[in-house]
Amino acid sequence: MAFTIDLAGKTAVITGSNSGIGLGMAWELARAGADIVLNSFTDNEEDHAIADEIAKETGVTARYIQADMSKGDQCRRLITEAGRCDILVNNAGIQHVAPIPDFPANKWDAIIAINMSSAFHTTAVALPKMRMQGWGRVINVASAHGLTASPYKSAYVAAKHGIVGLTKVTALETAEEPITANAICPGYVLTPIVEKQIPDTMKEYDMSREDVIQNVMLKRQPSKEFATVEQMGGTAAFLCSDAAAQITGTTISVDGGWTAL
Ligand code: NAD
Repeated sequence: MAFTIDLAGKTAVITGSNSGIGLGMAWELARAGADIVLNSFTDNEEDHAIADEIAKETGVTARYIQADMSKGDQCRRLITEAGRCDILVNNAGIQHVAPIPDFPANKWDAIIAINMSSAFHTTAVALPKMRMQGWGRVINVASAHGLTASPYKSAYVAAKHGIVGLTKVTALETAEEPITANAICPGYVLTPIVEKQIPDTMKEYDMSREDVIQNVMLKRQPSKEFATVEQMGGTAAFLCSDAAAQITGTTISVDGGWTAL
């Protein structure tokens, strides 16, 4: 039997998907036939225009729903407003880099809320829908930092380890149903979240931009290359295929060998 990825008739809701990895996943899931719900906390014309472009290029239905993933009630509203939710991608994330004694408490709270607690709220509303629809995929975007740590990223590492734990619990609670839950753990992908870390890391290590890229970021990525948003999208699409039906409760590293070190 040949496995194909045909997501026609399914709806994918991707949090934090007006840029970067979330957007790359939206494109790939749309190419596989899924209708798309994009999300971020803004409500700009450009946000809706991205949805229109995906719909025009791929022929699926795509729309944008504004909801702030730092707020539990808005996370829940997103899934309610989406209507169908066959594929839930918890991707929204932010970063802040500082040593623990200097780490602002409000940044800690925001990172835990957006990078981890949002997935709890969206999953809580999505699972009953998946059960009713008889099929579901929960894909949590964790990180190599969900499996290992780096200095100065206390909140991020804690949140990403936390979402890996939530992924396992989600998988166990759905294990006997046609629903899977997995975490994708990217290494460094050159997206706006990474671009924004470069100045802070330059300051932290007193290094040039090129030094930070080669000797801090890609130092731990043995391939010495950034992973791409298209590769993240392809991995998400694979997790939605029948070939992946028995893959649940695990992490898939897309990190150029980082976690093999
Ligand atoms: P990005 O900054 O391009 O994307 C983050 C997305 O989250 C954006 O769409 C942003 O609008 C959205 N977002 C931020 N705050 C939000 C909020 N309060 N409510 C709703 N949406 C919000 O960065 P990215 O690299 O594409 O990151 C996506 C995910 O991938 C994050 O969870 C990140 O931790 C993870 N990740 C990224 C890398 C990397 O190297 N880029 C590596 C590992 C994991």
